[in-house]
Amino acid sequence: MDFQVLLYYKYVTIEDPEAFKEEHLALCKEIGLKGRILVANEGINGTVSGTVEQTESYMQFMKNDPRFADTVFKIEGSNEHAFKKMKVRVRPELVHLSLEDDVNPNELTGKHLSPKEWLEAMESEDVVILDARNTYEYDLGHFKNAIRPDVETFRELPQWVRENFSQFKDKKVLTYCTGGIRCEKFSGFLVKEGFKDVSQLEGGIISYGYDEEAKGKLWDGKCYVFDERISVPVNRTGEEVVVGKCYHCGNPEERYVKCGNPECNAHLLMCEECEHEHKRSCSTECREHPWNRYIKECEAESSPL
Ligand SMILES: [Zn+2]
Ligand SMILES: [Zn+2]
Repeated sequence: MDFQVLLYYKYVTIEDPEAFKEEHLALCKEIGLKGRILVANEGINGTVSGTVEQTESYMQFMKNDPRFADTVFKIEGSNEHAFKKMKVRVRPELVHLSLEDDVNPNELTGKHLSPKEWLEAMESEDVVILDARNTYEYDLGHFKNAIRPDVETFRELPQWVRENFSQFKDKKVLTYCTGGIRCEKFSGFLVKEGFKDVSQLEGGIISYGYDEEAKGKLWDGKCYVFDERISVPVNRTGEEVVVGKCYHCGNPEERYVKCGNPECNAHLLMCEECEHEHKRSCSTECREHPWNRYIKECEAESSPL
């Protein structure tokens, strides 16, 4: 474990995101980090990997900047880089909820629960646990009894809530996501929609898994992450179970592939046998698509060079 992966975000005004991006990219490259950082007028959100020394010097640099001094870094050990390149991109928002009227998490957000408080809340009766992530993330792992919104992207979530979740406005709602950033905005949206008691998991699933007291308790399966690792373990109590199922045969499976049709790219849990049989595809249409990547890869392997 000579490497570390840092996951972090900070909602704070960045006056000139374009200029900041150029400087920040140069800095990250100089340090030797790899990863993906989003910069917006409303703040910064990143996942970067590097050696212990590299990641420590990055965190020190961030702490010396008053805007980012209190940023919380979630640190995971790793045997290698979690990315191939270093990218910094400017976006209009850090997370996109596609609201008519955007929520500023510095002004409106749900209550923050520490991992220990979150565990206690989950164990108490009369709470509704709502996963704020997408279906393909939920399907690999989630909190026990959590509700699975039927959404492919975060921006579909407000509409889903209005159509499927408004009966819980008087309940205690617990919502969570990978690192906490989506919930900062989503919980504010729920409050604005009239939900009376909204709490979010501080630091997200990643912090929860590393917490000494919570130890990932009541989490089933793995946590989907947006880097080359694809998934990380969460539950460290020894009661881990597999909840992922192969898209085609339904056997327990935690292996993700992207649909072979480059115009589809659906995230699919799929066993190796089914990957071969269905040409890594979600449908007949994708299987027979002229650009199917799985077919192309097999052809390239079998053709003598
Ligand atoms: Zn299968
Ligand atoms: Zn497909």
